[in-house]
Amino acid sequence: MNAAEGLEDIRNSVRALCARFPGSYWRELDRERRYPTEFVKALTEAGMLAVLIPEEYGGSGLGITAAAAILEEIHKSGGNGAACHAQMYTMGTILKHGSAEQKSRWLPKIAAGELRLQAFGVTEPTAGTDTTAIRTTAVRRGDTYVINGQKVWTSRAEHSDLMLLLARTTPRDKVARRTDGLSVFVVDMREGLKRGLTIRPIRTMINHATTEVFFDNLEVPADHLIGEEGKGFRYILDGMNAERILIAAECIGDARWFIAKACDYARSRVVFGRPIGQNQGVQFPIARAFAATEAAALMVCEAASLFDAGKPCGPQANMAKMLAADASWQAADMCLQTHGGFGFAEEYDVERKFRETRLYQIAPISTNLILSYLAEHVLGLPRSY
Ligand SMILES: Cc1cc2nc3c(=O)[nH]c(=O)nc-3n(C[C@H](O)[C@H](O)[C@H](O)COP(=O)(O)OP(=O)(O)OC[C@H]3O[C@@H](n4cnc5c(N)ncnc54)[C@H](O)[C@@H]3O)c2cc1C
Repeated sequence: MNAAEGLEDIRNSVRALCARFPGSYWRELDRERRYPTEFVKALTEAGMLAVLIPEEYGGSGLGITAAAAILEEIHKSGGNGAACHAQMYTMGTILKHGSAEQKSRWLPKIAAGELRLQAFGVTEPTAGTDTTAIRTTAVRRGDTYVINGQKVWTSRAEHSDLMLLLARTTPRDKVARRTDGLSVFVVDMREGLKRGLTIRPIRTMINHATTEVFFDNLEVPADHLIGEEGKGFRYILDGMNAERILIAAECIGDARWFIAKACDYARSRVVFGRPIGQNQGVQFPIARAFAATEAAALMVCEAASLFDAGKPCGPQANMAKMLAADASWQAADMCLQTHGGFGFAEEYDVERKFRETRLYQIAPISTNLILSYLAEHVLGLPRSY
């Protein structure tokens, strides 16, 4: 079997799995702001969340291209992979920067789904996008680090056993570069909840299981520090290309869902004695969204191929995320417009997907920050902030 056939097999398996979780399933969860436990369990049992974990640790050792195909198919089916996508890639920091002992301690259990590592604590209320301004501190005391501070938008914290946490180990005014002095820890949240960790859900416009997390003298064993103390910012940056590519793939899935949904409706809805899709005023926005989506999908493919070949892919991963998020939002707006008033009715799923895909203009990185990155680091323009 060649690589393309292998990928098509994966896509077919995801489609079959997702068919068991139709729009009515996601609508009900959305209404109740409930976590898709059954869906995540099915994906875990099918090994879909362990595709990036090497075989020696019990995963399937496939690349980001396969992971992107899985997430794209979930979104193309009308579902939402955000409930569990981080279980695929957060472990990348341990894989790349953890010690041999840490890898064998955590990765096999993550691969088996016995341990969920899908909470990622970086964003803080006061620092925002300026990650080096975070205030959560980790102070070494004997064999432990003592953590104090607060994170916000820590998604899936209530549905994760472990959290990858970024904290300051040396104050910003005592380091040569502001990116120094930040460290990454694996925090056992089940233990933490008994002594100093508090999780509070944040209700949002989408069903995203996101939270704020408070640390009050939480002790974390020193051997939960990943890599070298003070080098955490670089480790976090290293993991971001994978996240950008995978979320871009979700956006492509969303865009394809919106386009298919709009085409179906435009063919079947008859007004003025003919299908609305016969009007160019209705056709052209659909065709335009399609062209934007296909172009963005090529950039996602390019970024994923570079990533899988172990080559630098920062510009491509960022452009893929931005172009795919733009394409999905364009398609969302078009799909709502095509449906007229019915686009607002819950039962069509359009309004839910419309809300869900809007997130990707902001998280995990906002469009402006991608543009700043491209301007400064790729085009050599002066730093703007
Ligand atoms: C549902 C949801 C889930 C999330 N999940 C997680 C998670 O699991 N873990 C985690 O750590 N974070 C998470 N986030 C946080 C997310 O990564 C941030 O919201 C995002 O990076 C933007 O940061 P901010 O909200 O602080 O916006 P700010 O940094 O306050 O920015 C506000 C606006 O100003 C713009 N802006 C800021 N600075 C500049 C500049 N220099 N130039 C131009 N424009 C600028 C931004 O583009 C943005 O539009 C999540 C957010 C949401 C909403």
